Amino acid sequence: MALELNRRGFLTAATLSATAAATTASAFAIESLPAQAAGWPKSALWRLPPHSGAIAWTVDDGKSYDTVSKYIDFIEQSGIRLTFFVTTKYSSWLKVQPRLQPLVNSGQVQLGNHTMNHPNLTKLSAAQVQSELGGCQKFIHDHFGVESRPYFRPPYGYLNETVIKAAADIGYSKPVLWLGSLGDSTPISEPALLKLANTWMTEDRILIGHANQPTVTHLYAQLLKILQKRHLKTVTIKDVFG
Ligand SMILES: [Zn+2]
Repeated sequence: MALELNRRGFLTAATLSATAAATTASAFAIESLPAQAAGWPKSALWRLPPHSGAIAWTVDDGKSYDTVSKYIDFIEQSGIRLTFFVTTKYSSWLKVQPRLQPLVNSGQVQLGNHTMNHPNLTKLSAAQVQSELGGCQKFIHDHFGVESRPYFRPPYGYLNETVIKAAADIGYSKPVLWLGSLGDSTPISEPALLKLANTWMTEDRILIGHANQPTVTHLYAQLLKILQKRHLKTVTIKDVFG
């Protein structure tokens, strides 16, 4: 968990300094980031193309059934498009399957691969990486009838050459990272989450949230208001990258 916090903190600092320097988003190259990001491959997706008029809201893990379920209520009621990065060790995904399936069928919700057990993939062998991704792929295919390739989100955002190659060899050629977080992989207060939403819910971002804590479920109306006020449409990763 500390690793995820570090990365989130780093992303926050890096992006704020880029903004302060009035650097355009498109000039904000991976190469210019500090050493912590050296493992990010150029093939990784971490933002949308400029001037998209959109935000890709992504939601990971699914530790809390209640939160996953309330996300589905919100998606149904608001019409937003969203990508879930599914971790299959959590039973939430099977429990919500009947309600989630129509949203997956229509394309309003995309299901991406977030492994079976949420390990740091950089600590695993190529075979173990493929087993983690392959198991999640089979789960999504067997229970929802859809293909999750080529998109996967490495737990904690950690990638190295072994992971990238092992994943690509089984069709997962597009790691999806992010450039803005709701900060809710672990407990967070409502004001703190709202503050992050105000900062990061802007055009062209891939936003990361988590279906782990109840906090976000109390804030859907406010989050929707932010999107509406900023005239942001919501897109899935597939909507933009095919
Ligand atoms: Zn995760």
